[in-house]
Amino acid sequence: MVETAKQPVRIALFGAGPAGFYAAEHLLKQDLPIEVDLFDRLPAPHGLVRYGVAPDHQKIKNVIRVYDKTAHRPGFRFFGNVTFGQDLTLDDVSHFYHAALFSTGAQVDRHLGIPGEDLAGSHSATEFVAWYNGHPDYRNHTFDLSQERVVIVGVGNVAVDVARILCRSLDELAETDIADYALEALRESRVREIYMLGRRGPAQAAFTLPEVKELGNLPVADVYVRPEEADLDHLSRAALEATSDRDALKKMEVIQQYAGQSATGKPRRLYLRFLISPIALEGDETGHVKAVRCVRNVLYEDNGRLRPRHTGQEEILDAGLVFRSVGYRGVPLPGLPFHDRWGIIPNEAGRVIDPATARPLPGCYVAGWIKRGPSGVIGTNKPDAIETVTALLEDLAEGRHFQPDAPTAQAAEQFIRSKRPDLITYPEWERIDALEVARGLKQGRPRVKFTTAAEMYEALGRTAR
Ligand code: NAP
Repeated sequence: MVETAKQPVRIALFGAGPAGFYAAEHLLKQDLPIEVDLFDRLPAPHGLVRYGVAPDHQKIKNVIRVYDKTAHRPGFRFFGNVTFGQDLTLDDVSHFYHAALFSTGAQVDRHLGIPGEDLAGSHSATEFVAWYNGHPDYRNHTFDLSQERVVIVGVGNVAVDVARILCRSLDELAETDIADYALEALRESRVREIYMLGRRGPAQAAFTLPEVKELGNLPVADVYVRPEEADLDHLSRAALEATSDRDALKKMEVIQQYAGQSATGKPRRLYLRFLISPIALEGDETGHVKAVRCVRNVLYEDNGRLRPRHTGQEEILDAGLVFRSVGYRGVPLPGLPFHDRWGIIPNEAGRVIDPATARPLPGCYVAGWIKRGPSGVIGTNKPDAIETVTALLEDLAEGRHFQPDAPTAQAAEQFIRSKRPDLITYPEWERIDALEVARGLKQGRPRVKFTTAAEMYEALGRTAR
């Protein structure tokens, strides 16, 4: 083990979302002198909690209080606006730290691979979510909300978030921390019909029970399921009969209840469709999407998994706005291996594995979605991060780590500041946070976000470089 009273163990963490904060918490809880520098390429911390969790799910965001506690533990520092591989390379890290842990998430969306996917009016859910949450990289994106019908491909929780936001009234949205510009754009929304398309049946839908239940209680939208699509085929019925997953059974009950209910005349309509896949997006003469060509599916069993097979029976859904919400992928990091098909950094229990040797790459670890792929809820990242930190501590004890020549907080900070004089520290973030909350208070909202780095600097009385 490296630590002595004078020489604490120094760990660099990249990605200040849930996995990064849980890793920091577990490191700083150890009965060892450990120093943690948590970096993020964005000025503000909290990653997916700030830029992913839907604005009408404020309670989920209360988890930030836990991260705040971690940020106040001795040994913690935050450096926002610092990009790994650009401002700080792996080689740089190895001069100042004993190990690096990457929790950079899954930042890009998966594609459908069908004709017309790149037409105007066809977007990833990732873009829309980041846009309405005030992500600085997405704030200038535009979405044609003058369309009456929207199709969302996929029936996971992200698809549900997008559908819900499109189904909320302006009054409902105005109580949230949705980005101001998104609130303005949604004020003009003419969207009336929202379709979510599941390629498999209701029993295989990826959304979770509370999320699908919530769709039945939307003040201005009725939810519809076709009775014939809520009927289980014999394979799904057998799978459900054999399952011990109570939530799966309850989800089916909710869907069948939606299939049995009649409309109450709310102004917006949300259609949950099953066993249907888009096969092409069709455009008008200006290159804007005007319809989704779909095919009906049946299920077949393949190695214990129920998969969709096209039947050849087609259906055209007219729609001027399409979101694909079919999962996320990680992005490769400079100097680290990447598993392109899985969209993650190859690892064993969080130890980055060098594909050339099939052995751990000393000093390099991963946690969160870049480690396991985009699955689970925010809390899933806690045991995930603990597993990685446990591996990291075992390796430190065995002397498997970087051999830094300048392992001090001062040397690291001096270097980082020379690269990014415009970095944001945690005390600075706390001032930004307080200002956002104060802006929100005036409007009866949880906060009004600053959505550019320049706005944040201005609020701090600083100028961007
Ligand atoms: P997800 O849960 O993996 O759902 C992806 C959806 O896309 C599935 O319905 C999947 O269908 C479908 N899909 C994949 N490829 C497709 C294709 N080629 N054509 C048509 N459909 C396709 O992913 P996600 O919604 O992006 O969510 C990511 C993670 O974040 C999940 O763990 C989710 O629970 C979590 N999350 C949680 C919350 C919350 O707790 N409120 C909110 C947002 C996200 P198949 O099942 O057939 O593959």
